[in-house]
Amino acid sequence: GVIVVGSITADITTFSERLPEPGETLLGTAVTLALGGKGANQAVAAALAGANSFLVGCVGTDLFSSLVLTGLTGYGVDITEVRDVNDSTGVAHIRVDASGENDIVIVPMANSHLGAEQVDAAFVSLAGRASVLLTQLEVPASVTMHAIRAGSAAGLTVLLDPAPATALDPGIWPFVDIVTPNETEARILTGIAVVDETSAEEAGRWFCDRGVRSALITLASVGAVLVTTDDVVRFPAFPVTAVDTTAAGDAFAGYLGAALADGLSLADAIRRAMAAGALTVTRRGASPSLPSRSDVEELLAD
Ligand code: ADP
Repeated sequence: GVIVVGSITADITTFSERLPEPGETLLGTAVTLALGGKGANQAVAAALAGANSFLVGCVGTDLFSSLVLTGLTGYGVDITEVRDVNDSTGVAHIRVDASGENDIVIVPMANSHLGAEQVDAAFVSLAGRASVLLTQLEVPASVTMHAIRAGSAAGLTVLLDPAPATALDPGIWPFVDIVTPNETEARILTGIAVVDETSAEEAGRWFCDRGVRSALITLASVGAVLVTTDDVVRFPAFPVTAVDTTAAGDAFAGYLGAALADGLSLADAIRRAMAAGALTVTRRGASPSLPSRSDVEELLAD
C-alpha cells in the first residue's frame, strides 16, 4: 500500500472568457466544486492505480468537510487517518480563462493543523500495510520534513514531490529516495534554470550530490529525466492533446507510488506514471481528471 501525508481542499473553480483585472468584476460561464489538494489528489491517483491508499491529513467541521470526505471514500481512499479539526476545511479558489490559463489562491485552514504527532500515530497504526510514502509541500514544511525522516526510519520508500516549491532543510535530502520536481520546482530548489533535458540532468545531479537516491525531473510534454548517482535515463512523453494540465503532477506521483508499492521496477513505474500524467492533461479539472487504471494500461499497450 501507499501512505500519503498531505493537503485536502475543496476546489472552487470559476470559468470566464478572461481573468479579471485587479479591481474588476466579471461575469463567468461556469463554476465547479470538487475534491482537491495535492495530498488528496495523489491519494486518489494511487487508489485508482489499484493500491491500498491511506491518506494522513486534516479537514474542518464545516460543509466542505463532508464534500471532500465523500469524494475520498468514493475513490476508495482510506480516511481512517484523516482528522477533523476545529477550523474550516482548506479551500483552493481557482480561476480559469478560455485559453486554459489559471490563477489559484489556496487557503490552508485545517491543513495547517496537521502535526508531527498525527503523522507518528498514523505510521504506528498503519505499520506493515504500506511500503511507499508520498509527500508534498502543501502542509507545514516542518511536518513534511518529519514525515520524510520518520518514513525513512520505518523502512518506507520515500517520495517527495516538492510542490509548491520552497527552500527546504538541506539535511533532508539523504532521507528522500525519489524527488519529483517539475521544471519550476527544480529551478527554485537548485538555482539551475531547467529548460530542457540537458539542464534537467544538471538539476538531477544537484539532488543526487546532496544524498537523494533518484531525482526524477518532470518536463510536461517533453517527458521526464531520471538521474541517479551512476545513471541518466531520458523518458519521452506520451503524445497527447493537452486541454488542462491541472493535476498532471499529482497523477504522476500517485501512479508512481502505487506502481512501486506493487513491486514494479523504477523504469516501469515511471512509464506508468507518465501515461497517467499524459491522460490527466487530456481532461479538465483536478481530481475529476485523474485516469483509471484501465485507461492507463490501454495507453501503455498502444
Ligand atoms: P506538474 O503538473 O507537476 O507541473 P508535469 O507537467 O511535468 O508536472 O507533468 C508530469 C508528467 O505528466 C510529465 O512528466 C509527463 O510524463 C506527463 N505530462 C504532463 N503534461 C503532458 C503533456 N502535455 N503531454 C504528455 N505528457 C504530459
